[in-house]
Amino acid sequence: MHDLTAIVADITEEMLAAPDRGRPADYIPPLARVDVGKFGMAIVTLDGRVFTGGSADELFSLQSVSKVFALTLALGRVGDQLWNRVGREPSGSAFNSIVQLESERGIPRNPFINAGAIVVADVNLGRGAPRESLAEFTRFVRHLADDDTIAVDQEILKSESETGYRNLALANYMKSFGNLNRPPEDVLALYFGQCAIAMNCVQLAMAGRYLMAAGRIPDSGHRIVSAARARRINALMLTCGHYDASGDFAFRVGLPGKSGVGGGILAVAPGVASIAVWSAGLNAQGNSQLGTLALERLAVRTGWSVFDGMNVPGI
Ligand code: GLU
Repeated sequence: MHDLTAIVADITEEMLAAPDRGRPADYIPPLARVDVGKFGMAIVTLDGRVFTGGSADELFSLQSVSKVFALTLALGRVGDQLWNRVGREPSGSAFNSIVQLESERGIPRNPFINAGAIVVADVNLGRGAPRESLAEFTRFVRHLADDDTIAVDQEILKSESETGYRNLALANYMKSFGNLNRPPEDVLALYFGQCAIAMNCVQLAMAGRYLMAAGRIPDSGHRIVSAARARRINALMLTCGHYDASGDFAFRVGLPGKSGVGGGILAVAPGVASIAVWSAGLNAQGNSQLGTLALERLAVRTGWSVFDGMNVPGI
């Protein structure tokens, strides 16, 4: 077994000293103020051990990492019918791109680009009111993380609602193709709300446990999704979880992962660990610069990449 305490300490030390830290997202004003000097990391293993480094207890904005939990909820509501409205292919485009939507007639490439997540939010809204649906979503994340303190950051929610013109454009455009059932404003109220949830690395790694454990929360045994569905969500995270840098993330890290513009990344080593990293500075594709580097270091030190053969004796 690896000395995870030492590995996490080494990676944290390197990340805190790294000169090239990226830039925080600036299109949601409060995100631009977050200190890029900070770095946090948490690993939860299948047997329930927790390893932390740096600012692992500091809250950050979940942003697009929420799309993993939203997809999980939506699949629970409508099952495979979801795939009539959202594709399962990498987009090769930026997170908020509108170009493919025209040629593909309002069907987003995958549930992890903004357009796809907006369709997923429409599913999760169902016939309900945005406020109730957001409360249900928050309860779901609390349940996954086993932590009732998780909540929506109202300042981020207000700010994104005031500046989210491009998401409003995406929603309206899909509505024109008939791929949204509810009014765009209501769908976005849920979408912005789920993105505005604040979590820390420990909470996020805890929330991702069902994805390393074939769909069950390991300590309680509570089933969140079937094993087949957990495998598929992991596959989508691997192929589509980092927008147009998904291929590069697979190349460098080799784990299913989902990033958010708040600087958080959730990564899953199936059967082994759920990992969360956070550092607010982003690279050119909108993924955490040091979060990605930290996961790359972790994969090298542990051999946890899904392409490495994690169960080969001696690795
Ligand atoms: N709330 C952000 C948006 O929709 C999420 C983007 C991200 O985290 O990548 O613009």
